[in-house]
Parts: sequence; structure tokens; C-alpha cells
Amino acid sequence: MPDNSDAPLFKKGAKLTNGYFTGDAYLLPLLARDKNNDFVIGNVSFETGARTNWHTHPKGQVLIVNEGVGFYQEKGKPAQSIKKGDVINIPENVEHWHGAAATSQMAHIAITNFLGDTNVVWLKPVSEEEYNTVNKQ
Ligand code: MN
Repeated sequence: MPDNSDAPLFKKGAKLTNGYFTGDAYLLPLLARDKNNDFVIGNVSFETGARTNWHTHPKGQVLIVNEGVGFYQEKGKPAQSIKKGDVINIPENVEHWHGAAATSQMAHIAITNFLGDTNVVWLKPVSEEEYNTVNKQ
């Protein structure tokens, strides 16, 4: 059998054009909210240098990194380097961002819970200065 152990787990999905990402990021929806699951699951692929805006989730979010290297940062705290295999449990209403490193692409599965019909509140972009500071750590 062919060895696909290094192949991406998921294809890239559609380019995100909602204005809440810097750089090129892609979303592949994996599971829709339904009567049993009060969350959505998607695979988000970030090209090198791409990242989310700062944002919060009213009922939290879980990320499972499945490709590459990137960062997760909560406001006012040092950024965490994240890599394939890492699981990040993001509390409710904590301002944060996630994305690829300046030297690597990154992909994660995102499991995002709902409060009512809201699962994310978007805030300002992560500035070049903020992003460069993290990448120099
Ligand atoms: Mn998030």
C-alpha cells in the first residue's frame, strides 16, 4: 500500500474572505451544528504568516493541530508555539488569536461551541508588530 502518512489529513477547503483573517486561510466544514451537537467542526488551513483576527468564543473552542507549526496567544500573555498533535482548550470569552508561524504553514481542526446563535465575536486584526514580536520569541 502507498505510504500516505505525510499527506494532509484534509483538503484545503474554500479561501476565507470574511475579512477576519490576515493572509491566506482556508476553511473545510467537517460537521454542521445539529440537534445533538451544539457546535461546528471545521478544518482551517493557514498559509505561512496567516492568522485570525483577535476574537472570543462565548462558549469556548477546542483546536487540534494536524499540520505544521503556529501560534496561539491569549491577550496579555506570551504566545504559545503550537504544532501537529497539540490540543488547545480555549475558555469562553477569552480574547485570543491563532495562526501559522512566519516560517511554516499550519492547519487545525476547530470545534466551536454556540451560545444561542453566536460562536465567535470578531475583534481587531493582529498587527504586524504583534505578530512579529511573537515570531521573535
Ligand atoms: Mn478561536
